[in-house]
Formats: sequence, C-alpha cells, structure tokens
Amino acid sequence: MHHELAPLLKQYFGYDSFRPLQLEIMSATMAGKDVVAILPTGAGKSLTFQLPALAEDGLTLVISPLIALMKDQVDSLTASGISATFLNSSLDPAEARDRTEALSRGEYKLLYAAPERVMTPGFIADLKRWNVKRIAVDEAHCISEWGHDFRPEYRQLAELRKHLPNIPFLALTATATPKVRQDIARQLQMEQPENFLASFNRPNLSYSILPKSKPARQVFEFVHTRREESGIIYLQSRKATEAMAATLKAEGISAIAYHAGLDPATRAQNQEAFLRDEARIVCATVAFGMGINKPDVRYVIHADLPKNIEGYYQETGRAGRDGLPSECLLLYSRGDLIRNLRFLEDTSDPEAAKITEMQMRQMADFAETTGCRRSALLAYFGEKWPDENCGGCDACLNPREEYDATLPVQKLLSCIIRAKQACGFSTGANHIAQVLAGANTTKVREYGHDKITTYGIGSDTPREEWAALARQLITLGFIDVSPDNYQTLNVSHKGSEALKSREKILLARLPFTHSTNAAAKLSRAGSIPCDEPLFQALRNLRKAIADEKSLPPYVIFGDTPLRHMARRYPQSKADFLNIPGVGSQKLEDYGQAFMAEIKSHLSSHEKQTFDPISSPPAPRMKTENGLSGTQLESLAQYQSGKTIEQIAKARDMVTGTIAGHLAAAITLGKIRPNPRDFFSADDEKRIDAALASAENDLSRLGPIHAALNGEIPYETLKIYAAFKTLETVAGSS
Ligand code: ADP
Ligand code: MG
Ligand code: ZN
Repeated sequence: MHHELAPLLKQYFGYDSFRPLQLEIMSATMAGKDVVAILPTGAGKSLTFQLPALAEDGLTLVISPLIALMKDQVDSLTASGISATFLNSSLDPAEARDRTEALSRGEYKLLYAAPERVMTPGFIADLKRWNVKRIAVDEAHCISEWGHDFRPEYRQLAELRKHLPNIPFLALTATATPKVRQDIARQLQMEQPENFLASFNRPNLSYSILPKSKPARQVFEFVHTRREESGIIYLQSRKATEAMAATLKAEGISAIAYHAGLDPATRAQNQEAFLRDEARIVCATVAFGMGINKPDVRYVIHADLPKNIEGYYQETGRAGRDGLPSECLLLYSRGDLIRNLRFLEDTSDPEAAKITEMQMRQMADFAETTGCRRSALLAYFGEKWPDENCGGCDACLNPREEYDATLPVQKLLSCIIRAKQACGFSTGANHIAQVLAGANTTKVREYGHDKITTYGIGSDTPREEWAALARQLITLGFIDVSPDNYQTLNVSHKGSEALKSREKILLARLPFTHSTNAAAKLSRAGSIPCDEPLFQALRNLRKAIADEKSLPPYVIFGDTPLRHMARRYPQSKADFLNIPGVGSQKLEDYGQAFMAEIKSHLSSHEKQTFDPISSPPAPRMKTENGLSGTQLESLAQYQSGKTIEQIAKARDMVTGTIAGHLAAAITLGKIRPNPRDFFSADDEKRIDAALASAENDLSRLGPIHAALNGEIPYETLKIYAAFKTLETVAGSS
C-alpha cells in the first residue's frame, strides 16, 4: 500500500515502526477519506498527518487552537528537517508576507494556522492557490460545546468545505466522550467518516490516591526526591497555586505558579521557563494545559479534587507523553468534595448545576474506590479492563488486607457522640483522635473531654491512625462532615445503625502513613534502563544546545532517544542513526556533539549492561470475546468467502485495516486459515529471513518491511506476524 511511509518515518523521525492505528489512519486519509481519530495523549496523532504530508505533493493545512502549540510543532518539525511554517497573529506583517510568498512558491509541506485566520476571505483565496491536499484539524474537540475547550471559531471550519471541495479532513483529538465524538463529525459535515478509536489506557502512567492531610508537606515529600524531573501540580484556586509555589521555592525547589489571573507576559514567561526546564514544577489551576505539549512531564499531582473525571483524565494525561514511566498522584479529602459542592449553591442555572454535581460526586466516588484505579478510570470511558492486576496503581501494587474493625469503629463513633454530649457542639477529626488517645491538651480539658468514658480508650493506637480511621469512615458514610471550614464530625444514620446492630465491620487496612513516598513509583511499563550518570550528562548537553538555539530542550531530543544513547553508547554514525528518534537531520546537526559526550564519558567510566526494555503494546479497545465490532464484521465477511480486497471494497475501508482485523482474529485463534491464501511459500522464506535480520522482533514490522525493500506489503506482513505469533506461542508451550 503505502511503502513510502516506513522509510520516511525512519529518515525524518528516526522511528522503526508505527504505533497502533497510525498506519490505518494514514492509509484511510491517503485514500481520500474523511477520518476521525480518537487516540489518547501521547499516542502519536501528529505523525498521522505529518508523514502523509511528506509522502505526497501539495500542502497540508493544520488547524491548531493555540499559538504556542503551533510554534512548538513547527520548531520540532524544522529540527527534523521538515519544511513547515505557521501563520498567526504573533507574526509581524513583514514576516507573515514572507511566509505567504514562500507558500505560494510551494516551499512548505505543512502550514499551521488558527481557525479564525483560515476563515478570512483573502486567506481562503490563498488556500485555493496553494494546492491544499489535506486539512488536519488538531484538538478537534474544540469544535464541540460538550468538550472542555470549546472554541466557537472551530465551528466555521465546515465553511472550508465549500471553498475546497473534495479535500479530505482528518480530525484528531484525545477527548473520548461519545457526544464530543459525534459532534466532531457532524460539525465538520463529514459524510461517512472512517472512525478510529484506541484504548484510553495509558500503560506508562501509574495512579495513586492518598488521603490528603497536610498537602504542602505531602507534595514536598514527593517532589524533593524527583528534583531532576518536570512535574505539574494542579490546585483549585489561584491563591493556592501561588502559595504552593512559594512553599516549594522556600525549600529550594524551582517552582512557578500559573493561572489565568497572571498578566499575559508573566504567564508566557512562566510557561516558557517550564518548557525550557528552567522551572521544574508548575503549580497551576486548570487554566494550564492544552498548550503544553512538553513530552517529559514525569508526574502530575492533584493536590485538590478535580471537578470531574474527564478533567482528571485530561490533566493526568499530560504526564508521560513520551511513553516513559510517569506518575499521577491525587490527594483526596472528602472535604474537597463538600467545598466543590458549596460553589454550586448560588447558581443561576439549576439544571446545569445538577449535572455538575453528579460529575463532582462521580469524581469523589472514583477517589474513594479501593479497587484498581486504572480499571475504574477506563470504566468511565466505557472500557472494560480485564479482571487482573494492572501493575500500575496503588491498589494493585499494595493490595490492602481486610481486618475486623468492629471494635475500633465502635470506639471512634461513640467518642464522637460522647464528646458532643459533653460540650454541646461537634468537633473535628484531629480533636477526636486526641480524646481517644488520651492527650492532655488545653482544648481537651476546656471541653471537658477528659471526663468522658471514651477518653483514652484508644491510647494503644497512634493518634494519626485514629484520624485516618475517621477519614475512612467519612468516606464510607459512617460519619458526616460539616460543610464549613471546621469540618466537624457527626455520626451519620448509617453510623448509628452500625453502633446499634453491633454487626461485624470489615475494613481495608489503610497505609499507616500519608507519606507520598509510599505512593506511585510503581509502573515500570515503558521504562528504558540506562546509564543514569551518562543520561544526566546528555541532558545537560541537550540543555546547553537548546539554550543556544533558544528552543525547548525536547525539540533537540526527547528523553527516550537520550536514554537509548545512554544504553547503547553509539560511537559511529550508523549506530547513532539506529537510536529511536534520530533521523538524518538530527544525526547531521547533533550526532557529533552527543557522540563526543558519550566518548568522553567512556574515557572515565565503564560501559554497563542493562535489563531489556519493557514496553507492553497498548491494548486496543475490545469486546468480550476479544474482537471489536468492526473486527468481527470483517471476520464474518472473510468467513463468507471474500478476499481482503473484496472486504475492503464492501466495507469501504482500506485493505490494511481489513488485514489488521483478520490478523487479530488469527492471533486470537478465531480462524485458522491456510497461510497460502495470503503469501506463497517463497515469500514466507523471504519474510523469515527478514525477521531474523530484524532481531526476530515480531512486534515491529517496520524493520522487517525495510529489510524486504518494501516489496512485501504491510497487509501481508500483518497476517504473517499473526501466524508467527501463534507458532511462537504453541512452540513454547
Ligand atoms: P498526541 O498528539 O497523540 O498526543 P504526539 O503526536 O505529540 O501525540 O506524539 C507523542 C510522542 O510520540 C512524540 O514524541 C512522537 O515523536 C512520538 N511518536 C509518534 N509516533 C511514533 C512512533 N511510531 N514510534 C515512536 N515514537 C513515536
Ligand atoms: Mg497532539
Ligand atoms: Zn490497578
């Protein structure tokens, strides 16, 4: 099919193989179809319009919502030797004119522009002359009011259809909700678009949720052991972002604040500092986000409860775009939910408030589940995680044992009741914990709580544990919290029933500390073990080069290529070119400098050897029996005797997609066809040899395809790989 794509992938981007769905999306758009592609952040959506732009004549117009986003992408493309440019309001007229003229001369493969720019009459006339081949609408959820970043200007894009008929649209987003999805196709007036929907699992992200007690302390504990890494801390209020940044700065950590209340210059400056690795941490409100394509954000902390799960998913999604292990930590207190709900009280729109309240409660329910976080998160998007340990969340990694908590629960609940009877008002969790522990404080004496029967009956247990138990019982609904700042406790109806019935109460044992050191640091999925001191040295070099060129460091090289360099110690051009993420332009521009750094490191250090890389393939969305609806449809047609070509024609899909469907069916043992229906014995021998030369790695068809000089199409290789996978499995059992 598109034999030219794999060599271009290698030459410009330095990658050997495609990520899931990339090839399918490109085949569909290159066949002239309208496409809606919904893939999670970091899945590699940009490539699906960048590579076709290189493979074909003409200009690819990329609609992008933010100026910062455009500049970033254009810088990255330029660094890879791809001619791209952008037009937006940040350019002075002379510069804009230069670029327009160069566009008229056909000097660019990609043009990034904001929708409001695109819709001006002069611009549309220009577009007609510029041989536009494809229109990519990035962050396409901006077109929908149901999305989180609605931009009215996106609505006008359908107008482009009139002026540029027969030009395919490729809409891309990471927003999963069905409403947004449908809205995109409808608003862009797509007729029968081909839809691609990937699993929303982010295998390289780990999720932890800890009870929030002293957030500033907890955050500090977490970040100070990760000083070399970039992270985002989300907080509810502008004031809180500034306070947190100040606290961290006082501890010698380079943190900055970001929120919509800062003047534009400061905001831009702070964002720049973060992108350039000058500030390691951004303490931000949700205003900070979409423009941030920084691929090496290693953690996202929510120090306050997000307002809905969609937001939580999008915000945590900003971690680990580059596929390296990254952590998501949520500090949860039920008080946050109560505070969020209180904001809703003086609303003018009770209908909207009802929906918002439901979303807030869903978020709190998510935070309160004791089961697998990943499975709960994916369930929200309608995906079912197989019933197994995800290996990357606190619940799966430290499963909590259950214990008989009847006695401590009775002690705690009766203490709340007795204390209130004694002084006439309710008190907070920490005070109750002190009474149980028998603490001799002024407050305890003043309130007469040293005289009640429950005083000191819990002195065998540390106070912190009593406070933690109180929080757990709040979560479980045994205790109500007052909706004011005092957050005083009252035994709920459920709680008093439990006291009366004397039924056995089983609770999950809590982590004893609220220490964030116990959190996260979990998932190794996607990790690339390497020579850490060398990796640091290469990072420093990257930073120096980036500063000189006034670019963000990740535009030079991401952490992934640097880690591969610090694993393989390349010392020749050929070896350097084999590093994933090194294309020919980057070899030429930076190869020498980085190889010199590696050489100098080796003059005083031994080469090390490393564990293999663990990168599980991102699972696709699947139905119960392992195949998706669309896969089953292709399978049914195949079983009725049609060839791949015939199915493709009948289903109006490209052959690569159908081959993928059949390959999945073969791998899962749903069909056992004769290999000769797909490739000759001679071809099989040739592919075997190519496979051997590609390190016998079946998961990456790119190198195999290349070793065959592109003479055997990807469709065939997919089917071949499915047969081989079966053989390997059968052979090893
Ligand atoms: P998205 O827009 O889906 O969030 P991006 O297009 O920004 O993701 O890509 C995320 C990262 O993945 C980038 O660093 C990109 O270079 C990398 N990437 C994309 N395609 C591949 C591939 N086939 N192999 C390896 N890395 C890839
Ligand atoms: Mg993107
Ligand atoms: Zn889990």
